Amino acid sequence: MAGSDDVPGKGIEYEMLHPAPDVTALGYCTLCQQPEEDHIGPDGSVSVREFHRSFLGSHTRFIDEA
Ligand SMILES: [Zn+2]
Repeated sequence: MAGSDDVPGKGIEYEMLHPAPDVTALGYCTLCQQPEEDHIGPDGSVSVREFHRSFLGSHTRFIDEA
């Protein structure tokens, strides 16, 4: 298949965008491969998304939130 390489788009700020964490069918985080229950967010609830956001910085946006 020709031309399958991704071409970076103009005006997209990659440095603040991170892949959105998700949980596999087996209950593991797709970002760090740790069990979902090890992801305690700042508010005390289990959330891979908020857990990793707290590590990456409050300004972090995940790709599906951009
Ligand atoms: Zn994780």
